[in-house]
Amino acid sequence: MTSGTERLEADLQEAERELQELEEQLDDRPQFGLGEGGAGAFSWEMALARRKRVTARIAALREALTKVREGTYGCCEGCGARIDPERLEILPATSLCAACARAVDTSVTSPLGSRA
Ligand SMILES: [Zn+2]
Repeated sequence: MTSGTERLEADLQEAERELQELEEQLDDRPQFGLGEGGAGAFSWEMALARRKRVTARIAALREALTKVREGTYGCCEGCGARIDPERLEILPATSLCAACARAVDTSVTSPLGSRA
């Protein structure tokens, strides 16, 4: 059961390295005028969007590592069931089983989800 932690730690290190690179990239923010986003501004915004994703990934990986230490890793936060090992193989930082993740997904993406 050690291989799971190693994978998570390797992923975390990689994500932290990526975040650092993005921070450096975001440090030299291009001067962009009103309404005109040049190539520099575009890549800056791309970096900003990527940073958001990487930050979320780091948070998820840290949470997963905490769960490994607590012995709750692999349990679904939605229904408490064991998460399919194959799913954990693909998404090591996930905290939901496939069924719960699907339920969350459809409630977020479905435009019919918010009926009054
Ligand atoms: Zn579940």
